[in-house]
Amino acid sequence: MRCMLRAACGLLAAFAATQVCAANVRDYVEGYRIAHESQIVGQLDELTRIRSVAADPAGLAAAADRLESLLKERGFETKLLSPGTGAPSLVFGYLRSPGARRTVVFYAHYDGQPVTPSEWKSDPFIPVMRSGPLNSGGHDIDLKAARSPFNPEWRLFGRAASDDKASIVAFLAAFDALKASGRKTSVNIKVAWEGEEEVGSPHLAQILRENQTLLASDLWLIGDGPLHQSRRGPVALLPMMGASVPIYLFADIFKVPVIGLPIVNHDNNQHAANENLRLQNLWDGIETYAAMLTALSW
Ligand SMILES: [Zn+2]
Repeated sequence: MRCMLRAACGLLAAFAATQVCAANVRDYVEGYRIAHESQIVGQLDELTRIRSVAADPAGLAAAADRLESLLKERGFETKLLSPGTGAPSLVFGYLRSPGARRTVVFYAHYDGQPVTPSEWKSDPFIPVMRSGPLNSGGHDIDLKAARSPFNPEWRLFGRAASDDKASIVAFLAAFDALKASGRKTSVNIKVAWEGEEEVGSPHLAQILRENQTLLASDLWLIGDGPLHQSRRGPVALLPMMGASVPIYLFADIFKVPVIGLPIVNHDNNQHAANENLRLQNLWDGIETYAAMLTALSW
């Protein structure tokens, strides 16, 4: 435990350094994001249309397949890790970075909270962009007619748009931005995207234990998690408490540090009807992931 704490403290120092050394990366990534806002929002829109909730096993399977294909397109080795019970698979991806000594696993989940459509102002699986929260007079935006850069206060409404598909989209956009710039990542990348977080992760321990070699790493970064008191982000939390991701499993099974990056769902509406994601949260998430992918080294 002492060893893990020392490693975790070192990582926090590395994270702090990351905020400094990543200035150039941030400038580039911000420029990339501004030039690609339509595509990035389009990716979130597409994933939000997949009905990946516990009541729809076919929707969960479709989401896992689509996420696997998105990783394959980017050169990742992939595998769907099934618990063998018909339950949703964990989407695994792996990409080596030449010269990297460390391996980081990026966790997120692709399932969303249950929906009661009658409680929603619009179909939970047909995303709608609005100018702000509904209780603040947010009105519908015609995205097809909208020109980027978009107003960062706009919000995309849809089930799982915030919790937790935005984390996945932020990761993909950060990866794409770095690839477009020709930068290599400082760590080998593993991805673990779960499909049962919102029902208590009943098969996660089994999947992790059965795939310990595949999932071996030096650090888990959890792209989900509790609301920070400030309701602002991004923040790194150590140790993690709250939320429903069973954080202890990663530490118990793999004996490596775990850091939470609740970067995009700090608006605290993710479990309610009319879940939505503020665009600035997504933009912040992309920059944070880019910093993690380029500057983490220890
Ligand atoms: Zn979540």
